[in-house]
Amino acid sequence: MSAAETVASSVRKGVPAITLAGVNKWFGALHVLRDVNLEVAMGERVVVCGPSGSGKSTLIRCINRLEEHQEGQIIVDGKELSNDIRSLDAIRREVGMVFQSFNLFPHLTILENCTLAPIWVRKMPKKEAEALAMEYLERVRIPEQAGKYPGQLSGGQQQRVAIARALCMKPKIMLFDEPTSALDPEMIKEVLDTMVMLAETGMTMICVTHEMGFARTVADRVVFMDRGEIVEQGVPEELFANPRTDRLKTFLSQIL
Ligand code: ADP
Ligand code: MG
Repeated sequence: MSAAETVASSVRKGVPAITLAGVNKWFGALHVLRDVNLEVAMGERVVVCGPSGSGKSTLIRCINRLEEHQEGQIIVDGKELSNDIRSLDAIRREVGMVFQSFNLFPHLTILENCTLAPIWVRKMPKKEAEALAMEYLERVRIPEQAGKYPGQLSGGQQQRVAIARALCMKPKIMLFDEPTSALDPEMIKEVLDTMVMLAETGMTMICVTHEMGFARTVADRVVFMDRGEIVEQGVPEELFANPRTDRLKTFLSQIL
C-alpha cells in the first residue's frame, strides 16, 4: 500500500490523532527515520522505546515540527504538517511536549511559566490563565510552589511544572521525551505518577521512555525502534514476553 493509500484508508476509519505514513528523515547523509508508519488513535497511549540513537527523539520532534521530515506524510489532528506557518501554529497549540531537561524559563516564576503561552498564544485573559495554571499546579500537586523560580525546585518538581505548563495550553495530544531520565531515582516515581494520572484522564500520549513498569501500567501499545525503523510493536505484556526479533531481545535483556 502506498503512503497516500495508507492515509486514505485511515481517514475512512475516522480521523486518528496522529498518522505517520512512509516517513523518512535524514540529517545530512545520516538516515535517521526509515519508512516509519505509525497511527495513534485519539485517547491511545503509546510508549516508544529503543537503543540510544535509534531515532526516538527525532520521531516525536517531527510530530510537532521541531524537526522537518523529508519524505512521507505526518498528519496531526486531521492536519498535514507542511511549511505553512499558520497550520504549524494550529498544530503546536494542540500538541504539548515535555522534554528530558524540563526547559522551564529560569527568570519566570512557576506561575508565569504556566501562563505565558496561554496569554500570548491563546490570547487568554491573565486572570483566567492564572486560575487555569493554579488548577493544573494543583493537579500535579505543587500549587504551593507557584511563586517560586524553577531553580528553587527539585528536578522532580520542575518536571511536574513542565507537565502542568504543557497542560495549560489544553492540548489534545501530549508528547514526552524521556521525561524521567534526567532525574534522581527518588524523583522518578512522582513524575511517573503524574503521567499515570494524566493517562487516566484519557489524554492521547506518546511517551519515549525506558520505564517498563510505566509501559505495563498505561501503554496500550509499545513501539520498539532501532536504527530509525519501527522493528516491532504490540501490547506491552505480549511484546515483553515474546519478542520476535533478536534486536528487541537484546534491548530488553539490557534494560529489564
Ligand atoms: P534517540 O532519541 O533514539 O536517542 P535521536 O533521534 O536523538 O535518537 O537521534 C537519532 C540519530 O540522529 C542519532 O544518530 C543522532 O546522533 C542523530 N541526530 C539527532 N539530532 C541530530 C541533529 N540535529 N543533527 C545531526 N544528527 C542528529
Ligand atoms: Mg532521545
